[in-house]
Amino acid sequence: MTSFQELQRRRAAESERIAISLARQKGERRSTIKGGETTVAWVKENLCIGCDQCTIVCDDSAIDLYSKEMASPLMNVPSNRKAKIIRDACTGCRLCVLSCPTDAITMIDR
Ligand code: SF4
Ligand code: SF4
Repeated sequence: MTSFQELQRRRAAESERIAISLARQKGERRSTIKGGETTVAWVKENLCIGCDQCTIVCDDSAIDLYSKEMASPLMNVPSNRKAKIIRDACTGCRLCVLSCPTDAITMIDR
């Protein structure tokens, strides 16, 4: 019978394999997204769900969240958060694009 320690060892190995795979995929995808000093991130407001992922990964404090009233009165919340890029602080690194679960961020020319 498989021991608990063996299961833990397999789980740790699998976790490492997934982490390496995701890092490789992100690296490959990043190379396909335009970026750099001549570009700046831009948020499509209607796609943003205010999840905060982009602000966490941005090392340059170039993203703020602001509150916006929901369009639908059926949603029982007074406001919803949206991300906003601070253009001057954005270095064009593309990390926020990779982190966004709804593909709300694109890189545009400055
Ligand atoms: S491209 Fe980089 S610096 Fe600009 S907002 Fe996104 S994570 Fe921040
Ligand atoms: S990661 Fe995407 S969905 Fe989440 S707050 Fe940022 S722009 Fe909005």
